[in-house]
Amino acid sequence: MRLVSANSTQTRRGPEDWFTGTVWMDASPADAGSPDAGIFRVSFEPGARTNWHTHPEGQILYVVAGAGRAQSEGGQIVAMNTGDAVYFAPGEKHWHGAAPESFMVHVAINPAARSDGSTDWLEPVTDEEYAAKR
Ligand code: MN
Repeated sequence: MRLVSANSTQTRRGPEDWFTGTVWMDASPADAGSPDAGIFRVSFEPGARTNWHTHPEGQILYVVAGAGRAQSEGGQIVAMNTGDAVYFAPGEKHWHGAAPESFMVHVAINPAARSDGSTDWLEPVTDEEYAAKR
């Protein structure tokens, strides 16, 4: 057994070329020493969301607080709430974020992350796309 302290990581602001709105990211300390998955806790303020993006090995989201939204390209926007899990297939274009009037915190698990990163970032989700009917 090996315990890796939360104190060994730092909260960092989500980059503006990946997100709309204010987002905070914490890499799990478990990430250190595990090449098999990237694990991140991501906190979205109301209305904040990712850009459109894909993951070459797919992604699992587990919502740990608040209320959020997610959409796969060509599909409807779905609500996701505390305790929900969402799976995205490899290469599936999508976005995820907070609901308009609620924060949302999810744990993101990115399997078998490439050495050059586990996400291919694309264009922002426009206000019109974000406000589309569910
Ligand atoms: Mn994703």
